[in-house]
Amino acid sequence: MMRLSGKRALITGAARGIGQAFAEKYIAEGAQVVIGDIDLERAQDTAAAIGATALPLDVTDPASIEDAMAALRASGGIDILINNAAIFTAAPLVEITRQDYERVFKINVEGTLFMMQAAAREMIAQGRGGKIINMASQAGRRGEALVAVYCASKAAVISLTQSAGLNLIEHGINVNAIAPGVVDGEHWDGVDAFFAKYEGKAPGQKKREVGAAVPFGRMGTAQDLTGMAVFLASDEAEYIVAQTYNVDGGNWMS
Ligand code: NAD
Repeated sequence: MMRLSGKRALITGAARGIGQAFAEKYIAEGAQVVIGDIDLERAQDTAAAIGATALPLDVTDPASIEDAMAALRASGGIDILINNAAIFTAAPLVEITRQDYERVFKINVEGTLFMMQAAAREMIAQGRGGKIINMASQAGRRGEALVAVYCASKAAVISLTQSAGLNLIEHGINVNAIAPGVVDGEHWDGVDAFFAKYEGKAPGQKKREVGAAVPFGRMGTAQDLTGMAVFLASDEAEYIVAQTYNVDGGNWMS
């Protein structure tokens, strides 16, 4: 039985990586998926390859968010939002720039907050409830020496999930989050570059080290996260409110 039959989902940042895996899995579970990404060309290619649709979306731009909501409204509404778009940064504390801090918080925190707001307004007007899933991270549960800004942004996502979850459940909207550990993908090219710069790691070395330290025995894949993403969007998760779930191969406990 397909668990998301007839549901309409907007997944931000799904042109690649974890968001793309969510989109593919949601389609397999019967959902209609809209990919909203700042990289429209890649989003269109991905959408065409997997049977989704794509629209241009910059989660930091109020006009872009409103255009996306208007497009969804015109084509049947929105039942599920995954706030997946985010960027990573790393630097020693004494080298963090205001520009970097503002860029990361703008996308990861402000983007998550105002995408939740826009989707919740649509869901309330539709009167059929909804599901919002935010992408947090292990990084939001504890600090890391070189990752202060990203860690703080993901801690904020966990906090926003709690407040929004408590606020929106009266409208039948469940807000929850997923906290992955380390997940392989293009995102890691950028992460590796930071650790090459600040820790003198060879290309790929940081990735091998973090993968080897995961109790499960390997790094996560985007596909490892899809079961939780489907569950939290399904009717089975109706009584789950304001939670953040680790999906991390035991990383958090180690
Ligand atoms: P990724 O970098 O591969 O993909 C991010 C996507 O977001 C890209 O398609 C990009 O174009 C899009 N994007 C960036 N800025 C945007 C904006 N302003 N508006 C709309 N789209 C924008 O990332 P990923 O590895 O697939 O990670 C997905 C999510 O999971 C993120 O929230 C990330 O923080 C989280 N996460 C990732 C890992 C990991 O190890 N990969 C671990 C924990 C949490």
